[in-house]
Amino acid sequence: MSELILGIDLGTTNSMAAWVGPQGPEVVESEQITSHVPSVVSFGQRGRLVGQAALAARLEQPKHTFYSFKRFMGRGPKDISEDLSRLPFEVRSGDRDNLLLWAEDRGYSPEEMSSLILVEIKTRAEAILGQPVKKAVITVPAYFDDGQRQATRDAAELAGLEAVRILNEPTAAAIAYGLGEKQKGKVVVYDFGGGTFDVSVLELKEKIFKVLSTQGDTRLGGDDLDQLVAEQIAKEFLRGLELDPHSRQYLKKVAEEIKINLTSQTHTKTHIHLPAIGVDQELVYTREQFDQAIAPLVTRTLGHIAQALDQANLTPEEIDDVVLVGGSTRIPLVRHQVEQYFNKPPHIRLNPDQVVSLGAAIQGHLLAGGRRDFLLMDIIPLSLGIETLGGTFSKLVLKNASIPAKATEVFSTSIDNQTGIDLNLFQGEREFVKDCRNLGRFKLAGIPPMPAGLPKVEVTFFVDNNGLLTVTAEELRSHVKAQIDIVPTHGLKRAEVSRMIKESYEKALDDFSMRNLVEFRAKAEAIEAGLVKVWEQAPKYLSPAEIKAIEEHRQALLKIAQGDDPLALKAAIDQMGHLTREFADAIMGDAAKSALIKPGKG
Ligand code: ADP
Ligand code: MG
Repeated sequence: MSELILGIDLGTTNSMAAWVGPQGPEVVESEQITSHVPSVVSFGQRGRLVGQAALAARLEQPKHTFYSFKRFMGRGPKDISEDLSRLPFEVRSGDRDNLLLWAEDRGYSPEEMSSLILVEIKTRAEAILGQPVKKAVITVPAYFDDGQRQATRDAAELAGLEAVRILNEPTAAAIAYGLGEKQKGKVVVYDFGGGTFDVSVLELKEKIFKVLSTQGDTRLGGDDLDQLVAEQIAKEFLRGLELDPHSRQYLKKVAEEIKINLTSQTHTKTHIHLPAIGVDQELVYTREQFDQAIAPLVTRTLGHIAQALDQANLTPEEIDDVVLVGGSTRIPLVRHQVEQYFNKPPHIRLNPDQVVSLGAAIQGHLLAGGRRDFLLMDIIPLSLGIETLGGTFSKLVLKNASIPAKATEVFSTSIDNQTGIDLNLFQGEREFVKDCRNLGRFKLAGIPPMPAGLPKVEVTFFVDNNGLLTVTAEELRSHVKAQIDIVPTHGLKRAEVSRMIKESYEKALDDFSMRNLVEFRAKAEAIEAGLVKVWEQAPKYLSPAEIKAIEEHRQALLKIAQGDDPLALKAAIDQMGHLTREFADAIMGDAAKSALIKPGKG
């Protein structure tokens, strides 16, 4: 029997595990126990509660009951745009640019909270399956960046689980429906969960999945639907009554029950019991009322689909398969609207809140050496690279590269006797690092003193199967080495990723000429510096007329380098190259010739 690798959907609202058992992929559950755990942790008089019990404590322990912490995984205070003071629990800034969820007398990192959920799932799975669980494939949203993926791995480690693969949720959903078995196709995964809405466009080619685009709203989910229904009840049914926080919470719970009942019924009858404000009566609520209340939100999700398709350069007709994920896709109106949009019925055979974990389980099974009919691959959402001379951004791993990805380039120094080099890592699409996102920096020290241009610094970027980045730098002459295991600065919001990509298109031309200007200026300076060093030897090799011509052109070049016309500067540099070629060949060493740090452009 092959080793067990569990598939875990670590969700914002709900988490669960699945495995590939004798009957095929299924959620890990028995008659008595289920691995399905609400992603909620509570600290109260009864000690620490996780899952269903914590959810139940939410009403009496609002301040110490934590939910939706997936939003804070791998994020810092600067990444969070929502108003934290509106949450019932306290979130503080930690001292590592992180966030802490405050309970009683100590702060818990979002990773610790998630690890408590994972421990609960692991323990239950072990009890149900009767064997130890040490490894798992854990899913994350497609837009999660390095920092958020790393935080997810950390949570697993804290829980005593090895995350053998971090898998994109939409990819997992497509796998669950066996779409990976096809030769090719375009798949839309529409994920409407409890707290978030995501839509992803995937392309399957030769049994490999690629994420073409992702869109969504981190503040649009089933919770918001409950809120709308609760508000409608308060307005129309409890007209004019002042509601205390407890009644509000109660109404939201009732609203969710109504919502769920309306999936299979066209109207519901609910008993509303709010003695505090003197309410004790039956409420009839119809599906029609419900559809009316939520229609604007459903329409909003269609807008996101349109954007995602647009980004992937596809029309609805070009989509072969539509997969529905998340509890909120059980709502008949949602299914109907999505079907209409694509003019084809979506896949609904599987339970929409189990799809992701089932796909993760299949992936785990394959990794453990089970049936291996298809490969899986994800892509890098934004290019990765380093800062080079003049604040330019040299990309090593390009956007949309499939992972795992590896890229190596050789750089050099621009100053004589430089014994240390700062490697400053960035992510983005623009030509200058000031317009990109900083991922961290490290120093390669201890290089023996050499003339500028002589050291050969080989920089290697490696993005592993989980989208995590390791950068190494080695000076090839002295074999001095340094490496950074990136603890990336905290995440980018999906909106930022889209904005950065959009800006890179819009500003591409500007950036391009600016970048050329910067590079040409550096080159002009290097030429001047080279000439200064050797000019006193000129009379040995050159005629007075040649010396005069070069002197004149030196002045002209310095002047043009101060202007901002890259083409004129390029022409002047070429002209100088022409004038000094023989002289340079005769006397200049490598050091003076390659003063630029990026070979190939120097
Ligand atoms: P997440 O991915 O955010 O963890 P889920 O996929 O588990 O979330 O979805 C949870 C949401 O699905 C909740 O808002 C819940 O109310 C909603 N939901 C569950 N069943 C139904 C149903 N039958 N009709 C409408 N919404 C439902
Ligand atoms: Mg989900």
